[in-house]
Amino acid sequence: MRPQDGTGKQAGSPKDPQLIPLHQKPDKIYTRSFEGFYRNLRIAGGALLFILYFGVLWLEWEGRQAVLFDLPARKFHVFGITFWPQDFMMLSWTLIICAFGLFFITVLAGRVWCGYTCPQSVFTWVYMWAERVTEGDRNKRMKRDKGPMSVEKLWRKAAKHSLWFSVALVTGITFVGYFTPIKELIPALLSFDAGSWALFWIGFFTVATYLNAGWLRENVCMHMCPYARFQSVMFDSDTLTIWYDQKRGENRGPRKRGMDYKEKGLGDCIDCKACVHVCPTGIDIREGLQYECIGCAACVDACDTIMEKMGYDKGLVRYTSANELDGKKTHLLRPRMIGYFTALVIMISTLIWNLDHRVPYELGVQRDRNSLFTENRFGQIENVYQLKLINKDQQSHDFTVSVSGFPGLVYNGPTKVSVSTGGVETVPVRIAIDPAKLKDSGSINLTFTISPELDADDGYPDISINSSFIAPQ
Ligand code: SF4
Ligand code: SF4
Repeated sequence: MRPQDGTGKQAGSPKDPQLIPLHQKPDKIYTRSFEGFYRNLRIAGGALLFILYFGVLWLEWEGRQAVLFDLPARKFHVFGITFWPQDFMMLSWTLIICAFGLFFITVLAGRVWCGYTCPQSVFTWVYMWAERVTEGDRNKRMKRDKGPMSVEKLWRKAAKHSLWFSVALVTGITFVGYFTPIKELIPALLSFDAGSWALFWIGFFTVATYLNAGWLRENVCMHMCPYARFQSVMFDSDTLTIWYDQKRGENRGPRKRGMDYKEKGLGDCIDCKACVHVCPTGIDIREGLQYECIGCAACVDACDTIMEKMGYDKGLVRYTSANELDGKKTHLLRPRMIGYFTALVIMISTLIWNLDHRVPYELGVQRDRNSLFTENRFGQIENVYQLKLINKDQQSHDFTVSVSGFPGLVYNGPTKVSVSTGGVETVPVRIAIDPAKLKDSGSINLTFTISPELDADDGYPDISINSSFIAPQ
């Protein structure tokens, strides 16, 4: 539940029961700047992701953009590998692996994905930084927002939105650059010559980034992201999440530094609300684990700083498990973890094996659907097929075509087919069989084979596809 008084105290909590309207406008969240280990970790993780996202599309591989999703040509280039629509299974595998990876990490350490690496969070932190640079820290922003419009307020707001918009625009252009070569896109944009689709998607992603990270922020995590809703079913008592140590912290209350607060019945929490003021979702972690918590550990850093200042042990708010808080042992190795880990290892190994043994060409065989069979001028029974040869390799290939499965069959079609790199060749072939040899068979299994000019030992095996020959009964 969102805080209603800017203090992080939850409306309707057992300590402060109150009735609130169902559709109440939530308070604006003003986060405070802070420092600490997890903040540095998040900056390092975010910087790495930014470098990858904004940098990878400038890399070249064999004369083309290293990572390019060429939708018109239906080819996805990822460094030395080109994926075709026929490789859709690999994409499915990759997505399933990502899902299992997310389950594994969630059971182990809660929502670390959300707090550290989710693009929504990473961009929101960047936008919050831009807000602080242009408008100042929490108190200044709150004061200025409450005050009347002034020249200073206007230029600061304008600077913030310009910075937000610039980040959004670069993000939008970069995203489209993964689908249109970036070295063609940038000159086209500068000379006002970019295509309408490129402009549309740049505009779309610019607006989406600006709104999501600038305006919607925590609302995306709380109301739009399905992961936030089902994560709680994945947690168990051994999952490491951010907890406030209630036994140690209560009774909370202000005190003078160095005083014997325990004698007065106080715990370690000085009720400074620093943990609430840094929280990007505006919750009070002292109320317990809440679905709004994205596991960013900002409250851990803020509280550790206070504990240090007070001369208390760090970790009043920390990564821990419900079991540990109850004085029990945290079990990292548990059946669910082992199950997810085993499934991950098997799936990743299978994907790597498939990538390594991926044959860079394909054969498709389709019988002519217009007639089951015909009789040719020699009185033989004839079936017509379309062979489709797809070359997904980075070089051209000459394939030898052969067919087997019935002694004495006659093959009428090209025996050599050249397919250029990235090319597709469709070849009609006819198979004829003497009816005297057919006896009363209604259908015969045939095997079509293509053999490249290179060796199977070098990763270029023959490919065979079965089809059927229909004969009169
Ligand atoms: S409660 Fe702490 S960990 Fe959770 S979102 Fe707020 S600051 Fe981040
Ligand atoms: S930052 Fe620590 S001491 Fe301050 S209110 Fe939060 S839990 Fe209590």
